[in-house]
Amino acid sequence: MDATPKNARPRGRQFFANPGPTNIPDSVLLAGAHQTVDFNDPNFIAIYDACVEGLKRVLKTKQNIFLYTGSGHAAWEASFVNLLSPGDTVLILETGYFSLSWAKMAEDLGIEVRSVAADWRRGVDIAAVRAALAEDSAHVIKAVCVVHNETATGMALPVAEVRAAMDATGHPALLLADTISSLGSLDFRMDEWGVDAAVGGSQKGLMLPTGMSFTGVSDKALEAHKTSRLPKHYFNWTNMLTRRHKSFVGTVPVSFFYGLQEALRLIEQEEGLENVFTRHSRLARAVRAAVQHWSGNNGPQLFCLNPARYSDSVTAIMMPEGFDADALRAVALQKFNVSLGGGLGPLGGKVFRIGHLGDLNEPMILGTLATVELAMQVAGVPHTPGGVGAAIAALA
Ligand SMILES: *Cc1c(COP(=O)(O)O)cnc(C)c1O
Repeated sequence: MDATPKNARPRGRQFFANPGPTNIPDSVLLAGAHQTVDFNDPNFIAIYDACVEGLKRVLKTKQNIFLYTGSGHAAWEASFVNLLSPGDTVLILETGYFSLSWAKMAEDLGIEVRSVAADWRRGVDIAAVRAALAEDSAHVIKAVCVVHNETATGMALPVAEVRAAMDATGHPALLLADTISSLGSLDFRMDEWGVDAAVGGSQKGLMLPTGMSFTGVSDKALEAHKTSRLPKHYFNWTNMLTRRHKSFVGTVPVSFFYGLQEALRLIEQEEGLENVFTRHSRLARAVRAAVQHWSGNNGPQLFCLNPARYSDSVTAIMMPEGFDADALRAVALQKFNVSLGGGLGPLGGKVFRIGHLGDLNEPMILGTLATVELAMQVAGVPHTPGGVGAAIAALA
């Protein structure tokens, strides 16, 4: 018998179907492979300024933006420490694993957390949000925190409806939105929706490597920042405003901007931002069609039970009782070199996720779906065969 290395993978390109980090287009990879330059070099400054303007267009804001070297968690933390003081209260709308993580971070920073609880499979009820705000007549709540796209459950939250609930109750809190897995894949409108802090990261819809994140900041939030007392230094927006780049305390990660310049060119010029959203919704429909087909015969089913909240950037799939999602993912990875997302927190082993955001097209989605179906056969997971045909019908 031939000795095969334990973790050897089959030949051929890996199909990477994680909901973040995501596939990086070849042209973005090549653009990032740039020789180091002085971040104050006027040629770089021109690229930098254009990238900042481009990011504002993707956020749909004309207001402010601050950038950090660090993943999305860094931008979460930056937003809290720049806007709040010890003992302040925030209202966190429960959506899933990422809203819980954000709440845990708030607690660790000395912020009081109130939550609007939700059934993770149906999504938070906006009437409950409105009630929680109306109850707070003393305006103790300083910020309302929402996750626009809950990557763990594959569900989107209508941020405009949260803003409407805040306006209807006359609540003056800031509105903080995590757009990490929605920006550049789902429509997000910072200014129109009255979002005061929009938290984004590089490695999802923007199709870049992990390691840069940012906050879109409203003028109202910048005012609130002036009186915030949580300790901060690297993340301090006031420090950043004294610098030429109006961001980054310390060295600017220049290679990200060569990559971002190319990613913005792909998003805005080659495809068009609105067409990017249309492509994501088309591919998402195909994935859901396949899962709904498989679900017959006691197969896996869509985690989301509320069609109004389906996410167009990631689909979470609930395994049938008694079948382990991670065992199925292991078959897909080790036998067929397809990488799927796992279940997070309490959904570990129960759910697997197909990421369909970023640099993705029909053959990549169909190949992934076909391989998931193959892996289900190999792993003995019950399902109705023919999900790929349903996906093709949704795309044709
Ligand atoms: C990925 C993700 C994060 C975490 O971002 P990191 O870049 O991994 O720190 C936070 N929120 C959401 C909704 C995400 O999808």
